[in-house]
Amino acid sequence: MKQRIVLLGPPASGKGTQAEMIHAKFGIETPSVGAILREQQAAGTVLGREAARFTEQGRLVPDEMIVEVARTWLDAHNGAFVFDGFPRTFGQAEALERLLNKRQTPLEIAFSLEVNVVTIEKRVCRRLACAKCGLIVSIGWHIESAASPCPRCGGALVRRADDTPETLQRRMIEYCEKSEPLVAFYAGRGLLTRIAADAAPETVFAEIASALTK
Ligand code: AMP
Repeated sequence: MKQRIVLLGPPASGKGTQAEMIHAKFGIETPSVGAILREQQAAGTVLGREAARFTEQGRLVPDEMIVEVARTWLDAHNGAFVFDGFPRTFGQAEALERLLNKRQTPLEIAFSLEVNVVTIEKRVCRRLACAKCGLIVSIGWHIESAASPCPRCGGALVRRADDTPETLQRRMIEYCEKSEPLVAFYAGRGLLTRIAADAAPETVFAEIASALTK
């Protein structure tokens, strides 16, 4: 069973949903750097404030800050992980490789979730975040309507600050320029598994689960 995993894919390709399903089935921790940054922002820390200058514009946060978040997380956990949305640049992928080699726990698999633009736009329209606990939910999947309460804590659900059409466009550009090349990086390392991710979450998950247990 593979337990050191990264999920690559454009915004709304289902990384968070699949990470959650991997956690539910296999118990592997699923750190999301984006979620950690949103928590830091809500708590008003220096890191949160610095990161917000980038996230609010749909831009990637500089590598040094992100790698520090990942290093801190790895130091505090037992070595099994599904990183959701990390790495997103060559610099981050190389830093992750160094961090894991130092621990003699190399990455075992990188999934590339591949979706078309229409799916991305539809999913972003259906996506909401809990103002209280930060949970990301999708209308029609986790909740019935935009008026539903957060299924985890009962808090109010709001649109994510970076889920506007303008920021989505910027995030797509950042993805194509900086993150998509990582698909070739991990293919070169013999670690890549491509997943057709336009399908329903359960269908996508069945493919992921089969690759993890192979
Ligand atoms: P996410 O929740 O993964 O969609 O991330 C939300 C935002 O946080 C992104 O649009 C970036 O601004 C920032 N972010 C999250 N992960 C990274 C990363 N690995 N590298 C740079 N910025 C990131």
